[in-house]
Amino acid sequence: MNVYDSELIAIQMATSGYQQTPSLEKADLVILNTCTIRAKAEQKAFSFLGRLARMKKKKPGLIVGVGGCVAQQEGAKILKRVPHLDLVFGTQAIERLPALINKIEAKRCRIVDVAMSENPDLFDPAPTERNHSPVARFVTIMRGCDNFCTYCVVPYVRGRESSRHPDNIINEIKTFVDSGVKEVTLLGQNVNSYGKKEGLLSFTELLARVQRIEGLLRIRFTTSHPKDFDQELINAFQANDKLCNHIHLPVQSGSNRILKRMNRKYTKDQYLDKVAKLRDTCPEIAITSDMIVGFPGESDADFNETLDLMRKVEFDGLFAFMYSDRPNAPATRFKAKISEPQKSERLQILLELQETYTKKKNEALIGSIQPIIAEGFSKKQSSGGLDEPNQATQWTGRTSTNKIVNFYHGDLPGSCVDIFPGKIVHVQIDKAYAHSLWGKPVEIEPTAEGSKGEKSYAA
Ligand code: SAM
Ligand code: SF4
Repeated sequence: MNVYDSELIAIQMATSGYQQTPSLEKADLVILNTCTIRAKAEQKAFSFLGRLARMKKKKPGLIVGVGGCVAQQEGAKILKRVPHLDLVFGTQAIERLPALINKIEAKRCRIVDVAMSENPDLFDPAPTERNHSPVARFVTIMRGCDNFCTYCVVPYVRGRESSRHPDNIINEIKTFVDSGVKEVTLLGQNVNSYGKKEGLLSFTELLARVQRIEGLLRIRFTTSHPKDFDQELINAFQANDKLCNHIHLPVQSGSNRILKRMNRKYTKDQYLDKVAKLRDTCPEIAITSDMIVGFPGESDADFNETLDLMRKVEFDGLFAFMYSDRPNAPATRFKAKISEPQKSERLQILLELQETYTKKKNEALIGSIQPIIAEGFSKKQSSGGLDEPNQATQWTGRTSTNKIVNFYHGDLPGSCVDIFPGKIVHVQIDKAYAHSLWGKPVEIEPTAEGSKGEKSYAA
């Protein structure tokens, strides 16, 4: 969501005549888009702001702004804490950004704008103004959250849940596709409740409309809340042949007692039952999740329930976090806090267990041929500014199950060296690493639609 919001901020600044620069030192305006989901993210934001003090000393005309969730949460307090800061703007102030910057340029004043609005369609900038077109894009379909999990700051900094109008979403995706985008990830804190409040389409109806967009090859979404994940969405995986074989279904804990204290509104058995139904219908599907260790009151027995759930599900991947208190979140006031060393010990145990499953799932793909959409050069090489691919240039893409696959340009089948981002490449998997796969490209398809970008091959 922050990536998407940062793009909106860049669009807004372009309308004020600013251009992006890859060099921080060259910037006349620095905007930091922040996250406050965990204490660490907030600390990182403040340490980056601290570093900008030296820059501002050297260049007094520099304008420094802080946006996003830390800005929404702390408001004017940040101006006091960071004397070289010019602007604090909240999660729903992006639409007003050009006016705020104009005012600062003209008056050299300091501004705080953290006003909230409930209508996500109020600010729908023309997507044509987006300044780069990768193959895969995020598209926010709803903002905010009404679930109030007791550890979570989102409802307080992003406001109540509200859905964008389907026409705006479809138009945005169509514009992306016209500029070369092949894959979209639809974003919401709980996509299952898309449109319910506003009486719009249901999420599966929205998926069906997105599926009909010509030229779009793959659809992903995140996040589905397990309490609302249902058979209708499971059926959509079968019915919608552009919907990728991957779901992120955050469980947070395997203990019923902790799930209740978290206000998650499902039990361990209900979660396991939904996973079983999903795998019955879609045996190939990859399932990833989020887990919190060290929630207040989490006993050894509770933690063992989490490990037990992991053994039963065997997730393809897991994002695991140590619980941290967040402003306004009710769990901040819960007693029986877990010590930092204990949290860290539990995290280690959990990550080690997960590694065995990630490895097992990745190794199971060795020998198989996976269709991926070439997204570009791998990270290492794109940061080196490589323009012309050579034999040793590494390309990267993802499987339908969201696993990263890298391969050499020099290994491309003879006539296919004119590869470009957006092409479907069939890669034979040779090696499985912890976070990626390595393979040899065996075929390049003319970019076709549907079938989740897949053909069936024997492993
Ligand atoms: N809406 C998603 C859901 O319901 O699962 C989660 C979105 S939240 C932005 C991303 C993840 O951050 C959560 O799934 C949770 O695991 C983690 N998280 C949120 N608050 C946290 C906290 N106070 N301490 C540690 N992890 C936290
Ligand atoms: Fe936070 Fe819960 Fe909403 Fe997810 S569903 S954003 S964890 S309050």
